[in-house]
Amino acid sequence: MAWAMKFGAAWQRAAVAIRERSTTPLPRQCEICLAWSATSLCGDCLQRFVPATLRCGGCALPWNGQSAGDLRCGACLRQAPPWDGCIAAVDYGFPWDGLIGRFKFGQRSDLAVPLAGVLRRALPQVRTTGTAGALVTAVPLSEQRLAERGYNQAWELARRVAQAVGMSADPALLLRCRDTPHQVGLDRKARQRNLRQALLANPDKLKSIAGQEIIVVDDVMTTGMTAEAVTLALRQAGARSVRFWVLARTLPAGG
Ligand SMILES: [Zn+2]
Ligand SMILES: [Zn+2]
Repeated sequence: MAWAMKFGAAWQRAAVAIRERSTTPLPRQCEICLAWSATSLCGDCLQRFVPATLRCGGCALPWNGQSAGDLRCGACLRQAPPWDGCIAAVDYGFPWDGLIGRFKFGQRSDLAVPLAGVLRRALPQVRTTGTAGALVTAVPLSEQRLAERGYNQAWELARRVAQAVGMSADPALLLRCRDTPHQVGLDRKARQRNLRQALLANPDKLKSIAGQEIIVVDDVMTTGMTAEAVTLALRQAGARSVRFWVLARTLPAGG
């Protein structure tokens, strides 16, 4: 078994390397439906699984409001999130949960290309809201997690999306000083405190942050607690505004 797994992993790495180095598009299988396709996500799947969804400009949850744009849902009007805006491309569910899982935990860094493409598709609507001069960054991993995984999946999305829309990007505006693994069983306040202690503005980057509009990319927004901690850290460092671009948004339980 061990040799088979080792061989399988080596084969997969070689296949990924060939794909990444190839300049002509090789036929490949769609990551979702396995149909042969010129791209990693076929047109049919993109149409089916990236539906045009009207989302609140604050929490990025699907919204049944009347008008698109930067309008806010009732919950955000009652209690605004601390960040200035959030865009999500898809709901966190099938097939994105599986793809994001492989991207993060399956050594499939090559999935950054199609997944960044999905996030990019959600963005044109915000380019009109004056964020063109903003600086793009990513929610950081701790050093330990980064060493284990070999890449920060959020930065792999962030740098590609920034390039696609012609914006500057910096991976090191934020630091995650330690892991926050024991969040289960803690109440919201305790989890929030842990995150606020762990997520900090990089002291070497204060000049880049002060007065700047910042866009923070992440793969998934779940409770928004990470985004709250990131917002606080960047605002304390003098950021003019903090917005989020996330690939997938978790729907509230029962929603
Ligand atoms: Zn497909
Ligand atoms: Zn909202």
